[in-house]
Amino acid sequence: MSVAAKPLAPCDYKTGRTLGQGSFAVVKEAIKLSTGEKFALKVINKKHMKGREHLVRNEVGILQKVSKGHNHIVTLYEYFETPNSLYLVMDLCTGGELFEWIMEKGTFYEEDAAEIIRTVVDCVAYLHAQNVVHRDIKPENLLFRNKNSLSELMIADFGLSKTLDPENTGLLLQSTVGTPGYMAPEILRRQGHGKPVDMWAIGVMTYFLLCGYFPFAVLGSEGADFSNGVDRVLRADFAFEPKEYWMDISPDAKDFISRLIRLNPDERMTAADALQHSWMGFAPIQGPDGA
Ligand code: ADP
Ligand code: MG
Repeated sequence: MSVAAKPLAPCDYKTGRTLGQGSFAVVKEAIKLSTGEKFALKVINKKHMKGREHLVRNEVGILQKVSKGHNHIVTLYEYFETPNSLYLVMDLCTGGELFEWIMEKGTFYEEDAAEIIRTVVDCVAYLHAQNVVHRDIKPENLLFRNKNSLSELMIADFGLSKTLDPENTGLLLQSTVGTPGYMAPEILRRQGHGKPVDMWAIGVMTYFLLCGYFPFAVLGSEGADFSNGVDRVLRADFAFEPKEYWMDISPDAKDFISRLIRLNPDERMTAADALQHSWMGFAPIQGPDGA
């Protein structure tokens, strides 16, 4: 797909290299000509959003609501709309996706994984306190602001996020959204879902960070094949195996994962619970941050 950035409302941005591509959008580096500042410009192709038009403006609305409230959420500075596209001007994260980082490193120190996960949990605790469910937590949507520091991890991509009714936060969302591999069983079962789906995804991601493969993937010579794992997701049937990948991992880390990858959403740790879990003490101490 090639989406040429058209002249923008105040045509003050010049686009450069492509930073990444998701399912509905292409993200490019852009320079604001009047100031020389660099940004990330997310270009959402509205034609690709057929049937999901409501989600286009939803992303803008949610970012406007949450992006200034926490240091680890990408900031939305402004946005423009043309008949075909929506342009979001956001913080530029030059350190790449957590996903690429994992792929480069293979697995890494448990302390690093704990630091990364603590940032994500802290951010999700903030989102959930605002009654926002992210619904697409995964390493492709977590970006390093720069290459220097693990602590500069940012949550991006609020394209599938939803705000719960503040009068009734138990009200469940019905649509089937997310990324296979990270989707909680209640999404697959269409039973209605809410905040606990983010905690499931964090559990899956923590597992992945610590061993380099997915808890529900069937490992074969061709790599992981998620399609065979759906029935196991529906039973939350996973194990810390093969043993040789897990023998050096702390019992605290395994306990943390086991309290998130739970079939019953009500039994999963909330983000606030997870912050209190002893494994979060495994990460180096940082100063207060965010909201
Ligand atoms: P989609 O909704 O299509 O998944 P994303 O918002 O996830 O779109 O953006 C797609 C990819 O673009 C991301 O996975 C990431 O690689 C890159 N990207 C997104 N936002 C930024 C940003 N602010 N800075 C740098 N790269 C970004
Ligand atoms: Mg994405």
